[in-house]
Amino acid sequence: MVVGDGRKTRFWQDVWSGGCSFMVKFPHLFKISSDQAISVAEAGNVEWRLQFRRNLGRIELEWATLQQELSQISLTDSEDAAKWGLEKKGIYSTRSLYRFIVDPGVICRDMVEMWRTKLPLKIQILWMIWQDRLQTAVQLKKRKWDGPKECKLCNLTEDTDHLLFCCPPSTFIWCWVRDSLGWSEIPTTVEELLQKQIDGIPSRDNMRILFYLFAGVAWAIWRTRNDWVFENKLISNPKMLAYKVIGFLRTWSKMASPEDQDKRRWLLRKLEDGLEAGGLRVRGAPPTDS
Ligand SMILES: [Zn+2]
Repeated sequence: MVVGDGRKTRFWQDVWSGGCSFMVKFPHLFKISSDQAISVAEAGNVEWRLQFRRNLGRIELEWATLQQELSQISLTDSEDAAKWGLEKKGIYSTRSLYRFIVDPGVICRDMVEMWRTKLPLKIQILWMIWQDRLQTAVQLKKRKWDGPKECKLCNLTEDTDHLLFCCPPSTFIWCWVRDSLGWSEIPTTVEELLQKQIDGIPSRDNMRILFYLFAGVAWAIWRTRNDWVFENKLISNPKMLAYKVIGFLRTWSKMASPEDQDKRRWLLRKLEDGLEAGGLRVRGAPPTDS
């Protein structure tokens, strides 16, 4: 984010000062802050005042660093604007994304496992979601910031979790996944999803297979959403979305080590069985372009 008056930038979650969010840089402070959703404007009103739920103690160092960083920032009257943080000019490019993947530096080492999940580079959305940058992506597409967006399908605010988990077509997809894999409930956030266990997959491989699954679902939803938002094309039936998920996963199933390929195929079979149990034929369906 390029911060102006700070009203549209979230103090903790957005990347607006330095290379990573304060949430990542000052995790202990974030955990005890009394308003985790506070905007930069609210935090910076009059002076930088942030409230914490308990005394600081051992996290004084984080506090001192944060204060120092904030002392160099002053807000302006102009509106906040989104920018692509990986390129100096703030313009999105595949090259900068690739560099980031190859050398993520200190920004998000917890992403490494995801990038071990071999998937096409163009599954950039995964990275954006993980960084909670979906909003930024939307803004980049529009080239200007005009506030929070409502979901074009159901009018609720469209944040990442809404789009990928809580919007009705997405819920439909996760119900299908839940039933296919024997889960007791559907995930409603990325974090919840990543805690799921897939029966039949050894726990050391579980995360990679979950990312693979997540990539297929997220990509299918994202593409479908963009067709709807930007071209007014809406799928006739949420089951079409399931076919897309299967298509992407099938196309990507060969992009892994032979051992992982087996596990991917195993997952695919489960999902296909789940769809057929719902009265649908999928094995003969043509693969979707990736
Ligand atoms: Zn919706």
